Order: sequence, then structure tokens, then C-alpha cells
Amino acid sequence: MALIVQKFGGTSVGSVERIQAVAQRVSKTVKAGNSLVVVVSAMGKTTDGLVKLANEISQNPNRREMDMLLSTGEQVTIALLSMALQEIGQPAISMTGAQVGIVTEAEHTRARILHIETNRLLRHIREGKVVVVAGFQGISSTGELEITTLGRGGSDTSAVALAAAIQADFCEIYTDVPGILTTDPRLVPEAQLMDAITCNEMLELASLGAKVLHPRSVEIARNYGVPLVVRSSWTDDPGTWVTSSKPQERSLINLEIARPVDAVEFDTNQAKVALLRVPDKPGVAAKLFGEIARQNVDVDLIIQSIHEGNSNDIAFTVTTPILKRAEAVAAAIAPALRNPSNPKSDEAEVMIEQDIAKVSIAGAGMIGRPGVAAKMFATLAEAGVNIQMISTSEVKVSCVVDAVDCDRAVAALSNAFEIAAKGETEETTTREQEVFPCPPPPAPCPVSSSPVRGVALDMNQARLAIRQVPDKAGMAAKLFGILAQHNISVDMIIQSQRCRIIDGVPKRDIAFTVPRMDGETAQRLLTQVAAELGWGEVVLDSAIAKVSIVGAGMVGQPGVAAKMFEALAQHQINIQMIATSEIKISCVVAQEQGVKALQVIHTAFELAGSEKFVVPV
Ligand code: ADP
Ligand code: ASP
Ligand code: MG
Repeated sequence: MALIVQKFGGTSVGSVERIQAVAQRVSKTVKAGNSLVVVVSAMGKTTDGLVKLANEISQNPNRREMDMLLSTGEQVTIALLSMALQEIGQPAISMTGAQVGIVTEAEHTRARILHIETNRLLRHIREGKVVVVAGFQGISSTGELEITTLGRGGSDTSAVALAAAIQADFCEIYTDVPGILTTDPRLVPEAQLMDAITCNEMLELASLGAKVLHPRSVEIARNYGVPLVVRSSWTDDPGTWVTSSKPQERSLINLEIARPVDAVEFDTNQAKVALLRVPDKPGVAAKLFGEIARQNVDVDLIIQSIHEGNSNDIAFTVTTPILKRAEAVAAAIAPALRNPSNPKSDEAEVMIEQDIAKVSIAGAGMIGRPGVAAKMFATLAEAGVNIQMISTSEVKVSCVVDAVDCDRAVAALSNAFEIAAKGETEETTTREQEVFPCPPPPAPCPVSSSPVRGVALDMNQARLAIRQVPDKAGMAAKLFGILAQHNISVDMIIQSQRCRIIDGVPKRDIAFTVPRMDGETAQRLLTQVAAELGWGEVVLDSAIAKVSIVGAGMVGQPGVAAKMFEALAQHQINIQMIATSEIKISCVVAQEQGVKALQVIHTAFELAGSEKFVVPV
């Protein structure tokens, strides 16, 4: 007998018939001897409908009232599902988030869970009832009791958090696709189902746009070792297991806010190669990294961003022993990258920097918790460390700094995040060791050997660029501190490699991406402080798409980046920005080319299967 949490998403409970089908499935699971907590979403597109209503009344509705409104959707489903269960003879009781005691921060519309009371819920279970809990909602404990919601898609997070709190044997997420696929089957019907994926990979995919799981649900599964499976609510197929290594023991208090950083890491065996002033046109990155792959040079971080004057800077890091080879490739290719219309003035120039180190913080939910990266930058600023390059991902934030600053940076970060530093000798970049916590079935889940597990598209991002930011310690801390204070998540942070001296001060451009809904606020907040901090203009571009490949096995595979860039080049898709981490490569392209970019990359990595998925509507 197992204690199971089952979650059913909007489409799975979208009609009376669907609710009855869910009741049948739940009852079957109970009859097989299991105890069940069932978490449900609002029916079908109810939440979208409520948002639309609110927007008809106000362009900027009050966040408390939004929570009051949106939480009603789930309340309808819990009552109907309980009735459906009772109707077929299965004792059941519905409970709202507040009735269970899902206690959250007071942060309306995006509250994180602090802890979950389990007494009342477990008492009902012991009495033989199925407890049907409203997903996506909680109650704040500070001051007045207030209804909160966890953010769109948050029912997954409710389910996994409940599973962690009651120490369920596993958590099943039932949805309208057969499991986690190599990409969104609505955009690529040939996407292939995976038997299993690691938590770190899924966390990244979810954060980069694969909305099949709410990223925070994966974060909780990873942190608490909750066995998690995504399955179709239409079939009995096994679905996809999200696997994790055995986590360290953690308290269930401050469930979603405690200790985001598990480790501080560093690597002094790094060198940087930058190509300045390469033309902004399709095929440049493909040419450069294609040649680099042919020479078998393994690059670590790659960044590219447009600079004032419409040319790009591309920079990458390699390990010191292969620097000479990397430099030779870059130097050989530079002339071919010169702007043909203006070969003299627009020379692509190669710049090498040897005395650098990479310092990283590793954990889960780094982008989802904007305060974490901001704290890293602030800590480095306080230690007087200037940041040359930044790489962000949900599981790691890395900064390239001067080698002489490495020890100071590591000490300051370890202190700030209360962590013992991991040395260079430790292998930190190997594929996450998989533990299959799966109860039977499925039998051993084979993990594909492809270095790229999935491709994701995020059409809801905007790009901000700040011109002429003084090149000194503390600037990233200021900038991202302001955004973190307003809970704005930042990804793909790129500082231009070129430095311009303006009035005796060296200056660089900084570009980054934020969720589109935060774009204008971010622009306004940063424009307010620009003059005081000596920054130039703050430019916003909302017509972008971010396409990303994810895979823990990409490390040590020189050709992966080249293949992605080549696929885009072949279809004349210009790459506006590139940012990588060990587990992902993201490119920003024009919004109207986003879907095409996703499709051609998915094909290039041969991820398509023979079967086509039709998603129910
Ligand atoms: P639910 O209402 O059940 O929570 P969602 O709509 O939130 O369902 O998530 C399921 C949807 O996620 C699918 O219909 C699919 O279009 C989309 N999706 C995006 N990326 C992926 C992926 N890699 N694998 C599976 N589904 C994906
Ligand atoms: N009903 C909420 C939404 O549509 C939560 C969820 O379904 O996960 O965002
Ligand atoms: Mg969902």
C-alpha cells in the first residue's frame, strides 16, 4: 500500500465527463490498496477566463484581488470531484489551500510555500477518505490571513509540496500529454516521449519554457527527493519519471525558501577568447563554432550579444591547456568574419585573456528566485571583485573574474551562502547521478544517450540592454539588486567584451532577458537610476523569442553548440544573443522566427520520433 499524491491539470478536469473519468481513476487506485491526496486545477481554461474578466475591469488589477478571483477556479473543481467520488461510493472530502494549511509568504500572485499542516489532511486519510485539495493556492500567515496563489501553473507545485510534506511514496502529475517529450508536441508533433529525465534537466527545461511542469515543483522534488512522474490522464501508460540524486536532509519549514545554494565551486583553469566586432548576420556563430568543433576544442561558456553600432561580440571560455588551439582557430577565422562592405574599419579582432577564474554557486531555482543571483553579485561587489562574464541557469550561476580575485570571491560567497567550497579537483560537471526512486513499475528507465534531452521555446521574454555601464565592481550588484527587489527574474546576462572609454571611464553594454510582463517595469526602474549611476540609455525589445537546448551530457561535447548554430544559420535565422551554462545553450532570435527555430533545432539533433502526438483540446 502506498501513499500517493495525484494531480490533475485543467484539461484533465475540463468537463463533467472528465471529472467523472478522474473519479474512476482515483477510485481504482484506492481499490488497489493505496491512500490518496488528489490535487486539482481549475476546469479547462477557467483561470484564463478569470484573468480576462479582471483585465476588462482594470489594466493593472490589484494583486490581492487577483488571488481572491483566481483561487475560485480550483474551488469549483474540488467540490465537483469530491461529489463525483462520493457518487461512485468513494468517501472523499474537498479542502481549499487554507483549510489544509498550505501556508505561504504574503506575496500575492507568486507566493512561495513556507510549510504545510498535515494533521487535518492525514486524519481524513486515516478515516479512509480521499482528500481533494485545491491546487495553486495557499494562505499567508503574516498579519491577516490572506488567500494567496503560487503563480500560473502552480498546481504542480502544490502537489509536489504536499507529497514532500506528507512523505508520500510518490507524486503523479496527470496531464494532456503522455509525459515529458523532447519538446512541446503542439509545436512539433513528432516530439518523442522520454522514459526518464533528471531533475536538473527538467528544472532547466521548465524554466526555459516547457510548461508541462511548473519549475518550482521540480525544485521541490529535487530538494526533498520526491519521486515524480508525469502521465497522461487519458491512458494507463507509464509516462516520464523525473529522477533525482538522494538529497541532503532538509527541514519542511520554509519549504520553498530555505537554502537555495548547495555549493560554491571554482575553476582557475580557464581562459577567455573574445571576437570583437563580428557582423550581425546569420551564420557567424555557426562558422566560428563549427571550426572550433572540427578542431575538437571543447568550449565551456559562450556569450554573444549585439553591441551599439550593430556588430556583435562573441566570447567563450576554454580550459587553459587548449587555449593556444582555440586562439589559433579564432585568429584564422577572424578575417572571414570581417564585414565585407567595410573591411578596414570593421575588423573582427581577437582578444585573449588568460588570468581568469570561474566561480559558481550551485543549487536549484536560481532564476526563479531573483534574490539569489543578486546576492551573489552583491557579495562579489563587497569583496571588490569585478565580474567579467556571467552565466545563469536554474541550477548554477557562474561569474568569470580575474584569477587573482578567485580565492577572495570563493571565501566571500561561501560565507554569504553558508557553504563549504568545493575544490577544483572534485568532478562537478559530470552527468547528474541518477537514482530511480520509482516504485514499481516502471522497470529500469533507460536514459537516452543523446547529449541534448530537450528543446524549449519561450515566447514570453523581453530583452533589455543598458548602454555604457561603467566597467567596475558593483554594477551588476546594483542592477540586478534593483530587479530582485521587485522580484523580476533575469536570465542570459551578457556584458559586451568591448570596452569604450567615455570621459575617461571604461564602459560596457549589458544585455539580459526578463519575463515579458516585467519588461516595462524593469525598463522604468532602471531608467530611474541610470543617470545617477552613470549609465546610458535603457533599451527594451519585446519582440524576441528564446530557444534553448538542455542536457546534462553536453559538457565535453564540442560539436553541440556548433550544431545548434548551424541549424539556425541554414534557415537564415539570425542569432541576436547567445548564453550558455553547463546544462543549456540559449539563443535569442526574432519573435516571428521562434517556432521555426525550435523546429529546426529539434530536427538537427534528431530528436523526432516516428509517432505524432495529438494533444487533446
Ligand atoms: P495542465 O493543465 O495539465 O497542467 P499544461 O498545459 O500546464 O497542463 O502543461 C501541459 C502542456 O505542456 C502540454 O499540452 C504541452 O503543450 C506543453 N509542453 C511544453 N513543453 C512540453 C514538453 N517538453 N513535454 C510535454 N509537454 C510540453
Ligand atoms: N489554474 C492555475 C493556472 O491555470 C494553476 C494551474 O493550473 O496549475 O495557472
Ligand atoms: Mg500546468
